[in-house]
Amino acid sequence: MALLRIAVQSKGRLYDETMALLSESDIKLSAVKRTLLVASRNFPVELLMMRDDDIPECVSSGISHLGIVGLNEVLEKNKDVRIIKHLGFSKCRLSIAVPKRGAIKEIADLNGKKIATSYPNILNKWLSENSISAEVHVITGSVEIAPGIGIADAIFDIVSSGSTLVSNNLEELCTVMQSEAVLIAGNDNLDVELNEVLDELLFRFDAVKCADDKKYILMNVPRERLDLVISHLPGIKSPTVLPLADSEWCSVHTVVSEKHFWEIIGKIRDAGAEGILVLDIEKMVL
Ligand code: ATP
Ligand code: MG
Repeated sequence: MALLRIAVQSKGRLYDETMALLSESDIKLSAVKRTLLVASRNFPVELLMMRDDDIPECVSSGISHLGIVGLNEVLEKNKDVRIIKHLGFSKCRLSIAVPKRGAIKEIADLNGKKIATSYPNILNKWLSENSISAEVHVITGSVEIAPGIGIADAIFDIVSSGSTLVSNNLEELCTVMQSEAVLIAGNDNLDVELNEVLDELLFRFDAVKCADDKKYILMNVPRERLDLVISHLPGIKSPTVLPLADSEWCSVHTVVSEKHFWEIIGKIRDAGAEGILVLDIEKMVL
């Protein structure tokens, strides 16, 4: 049977969550890290392990059918690939940062200045969209030290918590783009068999992602408060209500999104729910 090949980062910030997504999708890998090609034991895919920089090219040239890589690399490399799914992990932003309390206070002050980056294409596009003429200086790795050692006036780089900026006495001037891991494919059509594997893969990724930001909650509610508690529960359809040994009480089960979780818990507790249990959901198929 033909195998669907997915290019993934062999080590780095994308690696752990890529592997976790595959494992939660019940795709078991047969082997040892560090080999270039790793087949699955129970699903017709194989992983091609490589540096993230090489993933867009590898997919556009057809060496790999799919790739999992940061949106920033996809836009920087500008290869002929299509994004088929945003995966919701490795979220970060790419920003311009400048020395604290320095001469650059707004984006117009970047005119005539030197900006160090590992992402020249994204930066040049942004500079031209904003009619700024600055010199782009490409360095790979440790971009944040460039202003301190005098080789640039500003930097354009990945920011997540911002602590690297603080420790280099820099502050964010503006965010240029938001990034997250994406699933990319080449522009050639897959044959029927591989397309079926891709559909199944996307179905599993959806089920994992859907479950990811949801919680299963159970609680005990006095019967007389049932309607009030239910009025605060969004649920997927309507909550399950089960009788308890004590006929004055019942047990209510439902699914809530993590985003609204604390707000809902507060309301149902005030409405009379007790013994609230919160469980992680492994997978969810709507
Ligand atoms: P490689 O050796 O594969 O070239 P790399 O050093 O270029 O790795 P990593 O630092 O592993 O890259 O980051 C890979 C991707 O993870 C980045 O392109 C970005 O999309 C995302 N990323 C980077 N830093 C962070 C961060 N601090 N938080 C979240 N995501 C990040
Ligand atoms: Mg890289």
